[in-house]
Amino acid sequence: MPELPEVESAVRRLRDAIINKRIVRVDVLHPALRRRLSPARLRSVRGMRVTHVERRGKHQLIGLDDGRTLHAHFRMTGDWLIDRATDPLPRFARAAITLDDGVRAVLNDPRALSTLDLHAANAAPDLGLGPEPDDPALTPDSLLEVLSRKRAPIKPVLLDQRVIAGLGNIYAAESLWHARISPSTRASSLTRAQVKRLLTAIRRVIARATGARYTDPSVSRLAVYDRAGKPCRRCGTPIERIVQAGRSTYFCPGCQE
Ligand SMILES: [Zn+2]
Repeated sequence: MPELPEVESAVRRLRDAIINKRIVRVDVLHPALRRRLSPARLRSVRGMRVTHVERRGKHQLIGLDDGRTLHAHFRMTGDWLIDRATDPLPRFARAAITLDDGVRAVLNDPRALSTLDLHAANAAPDLGLGPEPDDPALTPDSLLEVLSRKRAPIKPVLLDQRVIAGLGNIYAAESLWHARISPSTRASSLTRAQVKRLLTAIRRVIARATGARYTDPSVSRLAVYDRAGKPCRRCGTPIERIVQAGRSTYFCPGCQE
């Protein structure tokens, strides 16, 4: 599943490809997307200029010059492929945005779970998201305040997008390892010092991964994720795998408390 850094990389590629250009056409190529975007709504975006491309959590928001917003989400396996309108469509093309200079942004998705929606002007979607990891308003004290009301273990709490936007399964586990906090620790029991370490770790992990893609070898060198049975990179204890709220969690029982 694409995590925040991969979505950020995809948004940057998309922005470079479409910003300030006019949309010649948008095609939806999968029935699930046709149900979300009628032919009339697709026609209505022709000629619109792309004013901005933003990421919020794992949501991608493409601003049009009439104030409307195209809203994409990759879900499990989506990605943007940038090519030319004259190229053959990629095998798993689900939607395609063609720009006035012949560039085409293709929403490619083997599992076809990606979504693409169009929101009216001045009707920004309520994404139900907390602050971004790099939001200056997110501080050890503000995070401590939020966590103090959560009785669940910290790992599943970190996956709650209302707590921090965009943190996914891999980087939640990685951040907890860097902060030396067990994923099973009750969120409300974390000390201010632990929350401060955790926030620092989240920011470092996300910043380090941004610019890479999840298939890159640099990203596969993770500290704990998917390393069950292998020695901890810090203390040598074998990494353990547990399941929390239906998701795999990896941690070191030797140095995460
Ligand atoms: Zn360890």
